[in-house]
Amino acid sequence: MTDNKSFIKNYILPKVKKPITYQGNEVNAVHKDLNQVSVRFAFAFPDIYEIGMSHLGMKILYSLINSVPDYYCERVFAPWIDMESLLRKNKIPLYALETMDSLREFDFIGFTLQYEMAYTNVLNMLDLAHIPVLANERSDRDPIVIGGGPCVCNPEPLASFFDCFVIGEGEEVLMQLLDDYKKAKKNSNHFSKTDWLLHIAQTYEGVYVPAFYTPEYDQDGKIANFIPKVPGIPAKIKKQFIKDLNHVYYPTKLVMPYHESVQDRIPYEIFRGCGRGCRFCQAGMIYRPIRDKSVDCIDQGIQKLLKNTGYDEITLLSLSTSDYPNIEGLAETLIQKYQNDHITVSLPSLRLDSVSVDVVEKLQRARKTGLTFAPEAGTQRLRDVINKNITEENLMQTASNFFERGWHRIKLYFMLGLPSETEEDIEGIAKLAESVSARYEQMDHPKGQHCQITVSTSGFVPKPFTPFQWFGQNTISQFEDKQSILKNRIKNRNIRYNWSEPILSFYEAVLARGDRRLGKVILLAWQAGCKFDSWHECFKQDKWEAAFEDAHLDPAFYANRHRETSEIFPWDFIDMGVTKSFLIKDLKRAQKAAVSPYCRTGCAGCGIMQFDPSWRCHP
Ligand code: SF4
Repeated sequence: MTDNKSFIKNYILPKVKKPITYQGNEVNAVHKDLNQVSVRFAFAFPDIYEIGMSHLGMKILYSLINSVPDYYCERVFAPWIDMESLLRKNKIPLYALETMDSLREFDFIGFTLQYEMAYTNVLNMLDLAHIPVLANERSDRDPIVIGGGPCVCNPEPLASFFDCFVIGEGEEVLMQLLDDYKKAKKNSNHFSKTDWLLHIAQTYEGVYVPAFYTPEYDQDGKIANFIPKVPGIPAKIKKQFIKDLNHVYYPTKLVMPYHESVQDRIPYEIFRGCGRGCRFCQAGMIYRPIRDKSVDCIDQGIQKLLKNTGYDEITLLSLSTSDYPNIEGLAETLIQKYQNDHITVSLPSLRLDSVSVDVVEKLQRARKTGLTFAPEAGTQRLRDVINKNITEENLMQTASNFFERGWHRIKLYFMLGLPSETEEDIEGIAKLAESVSARYEQMDHPKGQHCQITVSTSGFVPKPFTPFQWFGQNTISQFEDKQSILKNRIKNRNIRYNWSEPILSFYEAVLARGDRRLGKVILLAWQAGCKFDSWHECFKQDKWEAAFEDAHLDPAFYANRHRETSEIFPWDFIDMGVTKSFLIKDLKRAQKAAVSPYCRTGCAGCGIMQFDPSWRCHP
């Protein structure tokens, strides 16, 4: 590989557009003596460096694995097209950034699966590393390919490509797997991957080994049965979650990217889970229950990170940051400490009804950056259907408060194609934006300055483990018709309208709701040249259509078909804590436009406390 390394540095990297993203060696990148290392883990992000380097899960697991002296975690990202073609042309296998060693030399390749449209990139990265993409074609000498992240709540479309999946939060179970693997490798002259996979499937909750399970289909193509093939493995795989966030590992150092990544600042997670119960939101269901970090823990963690990175910006992360119970106290603590050091703190994921203008103003001080809110639907009726417990009054009041303090740019996010949506709901999006604009004009503001409102819509994707998982998605032409209504309706020059491409939402739904048979489609699509499918300019609709045809499957069967509550889903063997009976109950509430309680003040009985009887959501 040494020859390859100098060849890469001298002949490959000078020819690519962003060489800096393929050479590692950033500040705080970890370097270890390979003679002292017993387990090598490549953390693989199936998208480009700039996106992957912003991913919090990677930062946590990279540091956590490397905190064990003889485990070595390195990073690898999907190379962009220019780099890929040079690697292929020169027959150089894909390598990890820290050592520039080929991925084939690793014990594990761990892919984080954050969005479905990155699936073909997984295959491409394995192939670029000269590793067979199909799990059953890999030998004991090939790395173990392991998957995690939110998409694995339905791992079935990827079942043929992975040796195992970790379901839920990985900090504890992943480390147990590495310890177990190290022991198994040490105690055996001929490590058998199959034996080890069987052992972990039988031993560890939250680990799914797809090769040991078989789905059966009825004549309509729906799942008839899902059968464990070997004795001693569970019929249901239970997600793992960390109960005490104050004591779970959090990095004290971060790799500082050379190249500007999407989030080039300290990300600090202040709580996990969300109890709002928005019915379209998969994260809000699968990351239950809510678990807060204390102000002290956050403060101490931030101090260490500031010292070790030199960043001057911190972003407080969670699914709904303004819902942190002591957000004022936390903000006050951070302001007191860092106001003289020119360190800024940003709060993404603000809710209209819980955001405090004072807090945001204090944190942002002179920088009145744009505000982003997500009413999601244009009318109160539809917001009740989706359980987005915010009113038009909340929006108007919050907007007025910010306008009063000098803000004038607001982004508003909505979804099109939500269950029960009518033309009135779509009109409602335009009306809401117009009301915000009118409110600004009525208030005192600098002469000649107008508000800038950006309305963005995306197509609703019915995701597993949500109360809307039974809904058929709108067709592409329905989405396009709805977008046209809005394009024609929004005439106010203070309001800009952006929309996402319906074709991408359609394939996202197909892959999110798919079964194991989709593996063949993904393989065919990738073989035909599909990759970077989440990038609209790279998406090859004709190749995907041909792949479905060749596999004799209909994508509409997965995306647009409305499902009965009696149907067995491909993901029903995964236990995410939230019960199917709760989701059905909540679906029925949605059909009556009735809202469900918020977990911090009530309980809708989602099932998480039966899932883990030692857990209590309320004291
Ligand atoms: S058990 Fe109740 S409070 Fe806890 S996460 Fe579920 S619905 Fe929310």
